[in-house]
Amino acid sequence: MAILDATKSYQKIFEEITKIPHGSGEEKQISDYLVSIAKENNLKVIQDNVNNVIIFKDASIGYENHDAVILQAHIDMVNEKNGDSHHDFSKDPLDLVVEDGFLKAKGTTLGADDGAGVAYIVSVLLDSNLKHPPLIGLFTVNEEATMEGAFNVDMNLINAKKLINIDGEEEDSSITGSAGGMDITISHPITHTKENKNGYSLKVRGLLGGHSGAEINKERGNSNKIIARILHVLSKESPIQLSTLKGGLKINAIPREADATFIMDNDAKCQEIVNQCITEIKKELEFTDSGLTITLETTTIESIVDAETSQSIIDYLYLVPTGLRHKSDHLQGLTTSSENLGIVDLTETTFEFGLSVRGALDSYVQDLADEIQTLAKVFGYNAITENWYPAWDYMDNSPMRDTMAKVYKEVHNGKDIQMYAVHGGLECGIFKEKCPDLDIVAIGPNIYDVHTPDEKLDLASFDRTYTFLCKYLENL
Ligand SMILES: [Zn+2]
Repeated sequence: MAILDATKSYQKIFEEITKIPHGSGEEKQISDYLVSIAKENNLKVIQDNVNNVIIFKDASIGYENHDAVILQAHIDMVNEKNGDSHHDFSKDPLDLVVEDGFLKAKGTTLGADDGAGVAYIVSVLLDSNLKHPPLIGLFTVNEEATMEGAFNVDMNLINAKKLINIDGEEEDSSITGSAGGMDITISHPITHTKENKNGYSLKVRGLLGGHSGAEINKERGNSNKIIARILHVLSKESPIQLSTLKGGLKINAIPREADATFIMDNDAKCQEIVNQCITEIKKELEFTDSGLTITLETTTIESIVDAETSQSIIDYLYLVPTGLRHKSDHLQGLTTSSENLGIVDLTETTFEFGLSVRGALDSYVQDLADEIQTLAKVFGYNAITENWYPAWDYMDNSPMRDTMAKVYKEVHNGKDIQMYAVHGGLECGIFKEKCPDLDIVAIGPNIYDVHTPDEKLDLASFDRTYTFLCKYLENL
C-alpha cells in the first residue's frame, strides 16, 4: 500500500525511488530506471559512461524561444542505519513511515537528499500541463562520495546557461555560492626502536568536533592541535620521544579526540606543565568548547621514535595552520578560507597527517595548499594533494537569482527567500568551472538530520516547494 499521496506525481515518484537501492557508487539500477521512464514517455535521453542521466524535454507552447534551463539533482544517497536495523541497502526497499507530517524511513536514512530533487525533476519532465522553457533534466551519480558524476558530465551535450540545482535542504533559503577545496596528506617514514620504560599517556577528549566546512568558523577545539601544543610546550623543558600519536577519524571532520604516549628525558615538571596547559586551553575554549578534558597518566612504553624525529613531528604539527583563516565582509561573515588538521597517525613505519583545505575562491585553496606543502618541504616531508573540487564563486549579477526571489515572494505571500553562500563543497562549483557563464540557483524542501537514520522530509514543504518550482519555471 502506498504511504505517500499517489495523486501527486512527485510523491509517487519519490516512493518508487525508495524501493530502488541507490547508495553512492551503486546507482546503476536507479540510473536505468530514469532511462526507462524517459523512453516510455518519448523523451530524448543520454546515459553516460558513469551512469549520469540527461533527459531532454521540449518547451511548452509559447516558450519555444526562451533559454533552456537545466534541472539538476544527484541520484545517490548516503546509506546509514541504526545499530539494531536489519535493513540490507543492497536489496531492501526503505521502510517508509509518516509521523506528524514528516516522512521518515524506519531505522535508516531516507534519501530525501537527494531523492526529493530527483522526484521533482521527473515529475516536471512528465507533466504536459506545465508552462516552461526547454528543459534538461540532469541526474548525477556519486555526489555524496567523490562528486564523480558532476566531474564527468559533458556540458557540450547540454546547450544551456541556466541551472537549478535541487539539492537544498531549507525551503526558505537558497545557496548562492560554495567552497572549493582539496585534501593534503603529509607523510614521512620513521623507525621505532624497542624500549621498556615508564612514560606517559596524554589524552584529549570531550570536544564538539563538527564538519570541517560548516563548523570550522565556530572556534571549536581541534584535538590534534591541542595535543601538539602540549607536546611542544613539554619539549621545551626536556627532549621527548614519541611512542604513539593518533587523533581524528576523518579528514573533513574537526577531530574530537587525540592520544599520545611518550617518554621525557627529565620529567620532573611534566605533570605541572601539562596542568598549566590544561588551565590555559580550557580557559581559551570556555565559551566555544567547554567539554574539553585532558588527562596525563603514567604508562609503560614499549617502542620509541628517536628524539630528533619526535621533535620534528611535534614542531610540524604545532606550526601547521588549522581552523578559520579568512571570512567575508561582503557576504555576512561567510568563511572564505580554512584548514582542518583532521587526521594524525603515527604507525610503526610512517607518520601521516591529513588536512583538508577549503576556500570560496580557487585561489584561496591553491594558496593554503601551497603554504602547507612548503612547510612540509622545509621539514623534508612528503606532501600529496588529492580530491580537488572547484569553488562556486558568488556572482554579484544573477538574473536567475533575481527571478527566483521575485517568484518566491509571490508564492509565499510577500515573504523573502534568504540567500547565503556556504563553506562546503557542492556540485554547482564543478558545473561552474566547466561552464563559467552558467547562472545557477539552488533550492530544495525542508529536510532535517540528513545523512543520519533520523533524516526526515517535511511533506507540507515538499508540496510547497514543488508549487514554487513550477511557478519559477513558468517565469523563466
Ligand atoms: Zn545532497
